[in-house]
Amino acid sequence: GTPRAASGTAAAQLRRRLESELEDIRGAGTWKSERVIASRQGPHLRLAGGGAGILNFCANNYLGLSSHPEVIRAAVEALEKFGAGLSSVRFICGTQSIHKDLEEKIARFHQREDAILYASCFDANAGIFEALLTPEDAVLSDELNHASIIDGIRLCKANKYRYKHMDMQDLEAKLQDAQKHRLRLVATDGAFSMDGDIAPLREICQLAQKYDALVFIDECHATGFLGPNGRGTDELLGVMDKVTIINSTLGKALGGAAGGYTTGPKPLIDLLRQRSRPYLFSNSLPPAVVGCASKALDLLMESNAIAQSMAAKTQRFRSKMTAAGFTISGKDHPICPVMLGDARLAAVMAEDMLNRGIYVIGFSYPVVPKGKARIRVQISAVHSDEDIDRCVEAFTEVGRKHGALP
Ligand code: PLP
Repeated sequence: GTPRAASGTAAAQLRRRLESELEDIRGAGTWKSERVIASRQGPHLRLAGGGAGILNFCANNYLGLSSHPEVIRAAVEALEKFGAGLSSVRFICGTQSIHKDLEEKIARFHQREDAILYASCFDANAGIFEALLTPEDAVLSDELNHASIIDGIRLCKANKYRYKHMDMQDLEAKLQDAQKHRLRLVATDGAFSMDGDIAPLREICQLAQKYDALVFIDECHATGFLGPNGRGTDELLGVMDKVTIINSTLGKALGGAAGGYTTGPKPLIDLLRQRSRPYLFSNSLPPAVVGCASKALDLLMESNAIAQSMAAKTQRFRSKMTAAGFTISGKDHPICPVMLGDARLAAVMAEDMLNRGIYVIGFSYPVVPKGKARIRVQISAVHSDEDIDRCVEAFTEVGRKHGALP
């Protein structure tokens, strides 16, 4: 039937206010529209309403496991054996053997004592700070941390310090200031998703040791592929024994379905099961989703070949684009931001790339600082060398056309 519009003055007032707010967003040029995909996630997409054979360079599908046949099969098997869902939170009647197995596997993968699952890493970040920190404690957070860390910190009553992005002098000054508190927790993204840069964890851990602080990292853009065995930033930088708490997602490299987790010391995980609100008051992860993540971890623990293949393709893209005259931010990370500066240039180039069958996204203020607009390219293990080369060729053509290259 036709949608029913609520009647009454308040509803009419609300509608006017919302429409004006939406107009402001459009006017500011920050409207985000959603392209509708009519195929599975992967390097080649079909868009709804036409657009077949689109080369996709903007998913967090770093290892290409989102549509891996074994991952899909594991989901189907879990769905058939354990059902569509639990209709319950974990502590009432929502814990199945597969949830416990996956938590054990996550802890083993990260070489930590225990792990706890959430519906998303957003929830894991929303739940941890409030459960762990009191007004007696302090949290020190990188200014460019992900929105979910910022929101999680907002929810807790600890003393809050924000240090300049990856600035160790500023972190040290803030740690000195925070000595008056009972406990200090430094919180940082392991890899930052807008710039593809990696937190200086060695230096952070040294400072944490000097000032008696704990280190928390969000590994959403690292788990599964950074480090010799894909364990993440802490493995890459040789500080697995110095980082106390890891939050990460099952919704990117680890199969891409959904879900998040915290892994770390057992008493911390035990406490989260008692106190963490997004865990206590939200439904259990559906079995199919658990099946995907569990299979993805099996594949990664068996072999590092997929991660190595992604690293080689990342290197190919970064070196060819640099040779073509582009500036790519970050280092060795599959997030390859093509720095353009001007917001309009980023928008028209992204549009023109799509006209050439390459799906990439432009980012500008307020998502990134003013004057630092970019097109973010994300490399996946399932891109072929030809896919990468086609993308570089298209960038070169489009860059010349719009004056980003000489
Ligand atoms: N943390 C970071 C750094 C992220 O990039 C994201 C996802 O965009 C999240 C947390 C949230 O993860 P999820 O999608 O599992 O909620």
